Amino acid sequence: MQYKEGDKSFINHPKYCKGCGLCIEFCPKKCLEFTDTERGVYGNDTIKCDISKCIQCKICERICPDGAIKIGS
Ligand code: SF4
Ligand code: SF4
Repeated sequence: MQYKEGDKSFINHPKYCKGCGLCIEFCPKKCLEFTDTERGVYGNDTIKCDISKCIQCKICERICPDGAIKIGS
């Protein structure tokens, strides 16, 4: 799933997401939350992003243990 707004881009790859919630916990702008519209590697809930709040800091990309998030193009 890709979210875009202006120059901002957030991509998550549900097939790599284990639903650990680390990205949600550490996002400084609280723009991530769980969603059940897509399923992760264990059939778990994955994440969605409110791109309007995202500051492209890449904390989520760095902290995800499974490489499921890509910030920027
Ligand atoms: S790049 Fe930063 S602000 Fe945007 S979703 Fe990731 S942690 Fe949150
Ligand atoms: S940190 Fe990675 S594996 Fe954990 S919920 Fe976020 S995207 Fe999924």
